[in-house]
Order: sequence, then structure tokens, then C-alpha cells
Amino acid sequence: MLHLGNYLGAIRQWVANQELYDNYFCVVDLHAITAPHTPKELTKDTYRTAALYLASGIDPEQSRIFVQSHVTAHAELTVAAQLARRPWAGSRRSIQYKEKSAKQGANSESVRRILYSCSPAIAADRTVVARQVSVGLFDYPVLMAADILLYQTQLVPVGEDQRQHLELTRDIARRFNDQYCKNKERKTFVEPEALIVKSNARVMSLQDGSAKMSKSAENDMSRINLLDPPDVIAQKIKRCKTDSVKGLSYDPARPEAVNLLGIYEAMSGRSRAEVELDLESMAGWGTFKPLLTEATIAHLEPLQKRYNEIVSETEYLTKVLKEGQEAADEVASRTLADAKRAMGFTLLG
Ligand code: AMP
Repeated sequence: MLHLGNYLGAIRQWVANQELYDNYFCVVDLHAITAPHTPKELTKDTYRTAALYLASGIDPEQSRIFVQSHVTAHAELTVAAQLARRPWAGSRRSIQYKEKSAKQGANSESVRRILYSCSPAIAADRTVVARQVSVGLFDYPVLMAADILLYQTQLVPVGEDQRQHLELTRDIARRFNDQYCKNKERKTFVEPEALIVKSNARVMSLQDGSAKMSKSAENDMSRINLLDPPDVIAQKIKRCKTDSVKGLSYDPARPEAVNLLGIYEAMSGRSRAEVELDLESMAGWGTFKPLLTEATIAHLEPLQKRYNEIVSETEYLTKVLKEGQEAADEVASRTLADAKRAMGFTLLG
């Protein structure tokens, strides 16, 4: 389920930048199965995410929207890249790995032994937590690199939290080009840059102003999901963590206040200067919370309405995803063929 952090840190910028760039947006169902999943839920969530992209304003006339598993080049390039080199995967350097493996299980010697046969570098890392951790989680950064590199991507519009994975992608591209395209005029992969918008780059949890708002956090009260109904939004804001300091301010020593004021700016469309003026006449949290609630419900209402229309028109959604698949597949297959040729795979025809 996408939440306000995804929306403010990523989707909002994707929508705003549609006219500036030639965009590819992908629903990453292959990444989704690195955590335990139920097939029915995966199907539902895949359509739901695509519909939320559209409802947020991604326009299929301008951008391509597709599902990762519909373009088989993602899986194929991941295997090729992972077999060729893998010291980055599953290392302590991967945030996804650290966060998810900590949730999925604890240390186990037997799994470490199995891992050793796949990747001595990973298995030798005593800090790696291994029980029940899927091999897919080790591959998470490599699959992510494939997602990006297949499209000759120059810019990746992500939140600050993803900068590290982008570095890994750049690393993989550079190493591949150095290793397999030494004397070639055209390198197989482009080294992508991050396109990070500073404002609201990090939306924090409603229960802890120093932790990121996250879809994998156990407590649903820590995030506002884009499809939360008004009464749930009101409950979450009413119960969110605050502090006991008198009045409200952007004081960096008050992480909860900074976070909630930032969300209020985004939801109300008011600038920081305007909000600062409002604060002068605001006694405290008791006055602020209803305003934040009202602004959030009003901001999400048109998105939720559009979402409901889209999910009731299944033919439209299927058509958009099919067209997205065809467009994405054309570019991705070309890059994949290039990469395979560079690596010495035999291609017929
Ligand atoms: P994820 O939810 O980790 O799959 O991230 C999807 C996109 O949303 C990425 O571009 C992230 O940078 C962005 N994102 C996720 N959580 C947050 C957050 N709490 N604040 C800002 N951006 C976020």
C-alpha cells in the first residue's frame, strides 16, 4: 500500500516532471516477492499500485506504466549480472537487505552454509542475518540495477533514502562497461544520476519523528496510506506522536513538529512562510491537528475518487499496462541483447 512518504517523496515529482522527461514507471512485483507474500494479495496489490499511479496523475499518454514481471528482460538481466559479479548483493551496504532481513529472521549456520555455495563473500560476512532470508533479497540491488539500466536511464527520480541503491547501480554499470565494453565506442549501460527533490524528500513516521514513514513498518498507525478513508486519517493524526513543548515551531530539536508541519505544507499547498505566520496564532497541537486532518483529507479526496473510477474500469487499466509493456519491452530487449552480446552469449538472428 502506497503512503504519504511515497507520494510526497516520489510520485508527486514523477507527475510534475512528466513533461520534462521521457519516463518509465514500473510496478515492481518481482521486488515484492522478496518478502513473504500471498499470491492473491500480490495480484490485487499490483493492480492497486498501477491504479494509484494513474490516480496520482501519471498520464499514460505521456509516460509508460508497466508491471516489472511483464517485461522478462528484468529477470534475465538480473541473472546475467548476478552470475557475472555479486559482491554488492546482500552486503551490509544494502539498506533494503538490512531492513528486511532483520524482519525476516535471525542467524542460522545451515542457511549460511547454503549461501556460501552461492556467494562466499556474503556467507563470510558474519553480520549477515540468514534464516528465512530469500535469495531474492540478496539480489534486490541487482534487480533494481536491471530495472534502471535496461532503459538507458539518465535520471532516477527517487527519495533520499534510495541514493545508496543508485550508487550500487552506477557501480554495476561502470564495472560492466569496464569489463565487457573496453574497446567499444558505445558502452552497454548509461551511468544514471539520482534526481532528488529536497522538499519532503523524507516523510517521517507518525509514531516516531526520527524514523522514516515506511510500508513495511508493522504499526499501520505510523503512516497515512493513500487509500485511508477520512475517519482513519483523522484517527491516525489524532493519535500521532507529538511533544510537550509549548506552541509549535520548526525547531530541528522537535522532529515530530518538523515532520507534521512539513506534511501540512504539502497537503495544504501553503508555503513554509505562510505556515509560520499561521503558527503565531496557534495555541498548540490541539489547534493544529484538526487543520492537518482537514488538509490531508481534502488533498487525498480527488486522488481516491479517481482511484475508485479506475479500478471499476478494468479494461482501461489492462489496456494501459499492455501498452506500457510493449513500449518498455522494446527498449529493454534491445539493451538486454546488447548486454548479452557484450558478455559473449550467442544470439541467433
Ligand atoms: P519504497 O516504498 O521503499 O519502495 O520506495 C518507493 C519510492 O518512495 C522511492 O522513490 C522512495 O525514495 C520513496 N519513499 C519511500 N518512503 C519514503 C519516505 N518516508 N519519505 C520520502 N520518500 C519515500
